[in-house]
Amino acid sequence: MAATILVVEDEPAIQTLIAVNLKRAGHEVVGALDAESAQRHINEALPDLILLDWMLPGMSGLEMARRLRGDARTRSVPIIMLTARGDERDKVQGLETGADDYVTKPFSPRELLARIQAVLRRRAPEATEDAVEIGGLRVDPVSHRVAANGQPVTIGPTEFRLLHFLITHPERVHSRSQLLDQVWGDHVFVEERTVDVHVRRLRAALEPTGLERLIQTVRGSGYRLSAEAV
Ligand code: CA
Repeated sequence: MAATILVVEDEPAIQTLIAVNLKRAGHEVVGALDAESAQRHINEALPDLILLDWMLPGMSGLEMARRLRGDARTRSVPIIMLTARGDERDKVQGLETGADDYVTKPFSPRELLARIQAVLRRRAPEATEDAVEIGGLRVDPVSHRVAANGQPVTIGPTEFRLLHFLITHPERVHSRSQLLDQVWGDHVFVEERTVDVHVRRLRAALEPTGLERLIQTVRGSGYRLSAEAV
């Protein structure tokens, strides 16, 4: 499972150690030495997961986690706190702030990777390599194959990413701007109606199989993938 991971850590040696190990495991790594530069990266594109050091110069990791959870755009980005503190009260405070997990320094790269995989599987299923099937529609992120009731469906790369995101987050309504963030990764340079264009193409590709009904428009809100009738 390859994910884009933002590593916010002010100690260069630890930053490098983490980056080397995450890259070796196939992840893309974006590094930031403080909360302010991390925020600039986040404004440009949402990462799949944030590794956030507790003790940072300027804004603390704890305060940053609190802000990310308070902002609708970043609310659902998984966060793992890194800390030198092993205190149980600190751990509780970190998790209450909205962190998904908590890793105490010093940690082994293997342990950190295992925690990352576990959080991604739970929180960002689109970043995992598991095939997903709903209502007869099957999407395999490893082979990039889509099948409808067992029949192969050919779709373009953007439609594939859009469908993969929708099918790994079913039954939920996603606004156009959320889809731009999650599927296009950079909402600044793409207009919201681009989403409509690709949804139309995705439905057209699914239409011969009858499964285009799974891609539902929720008026005034956005789109949803559901096996239930509208
Ligand atoms: Ca630190």
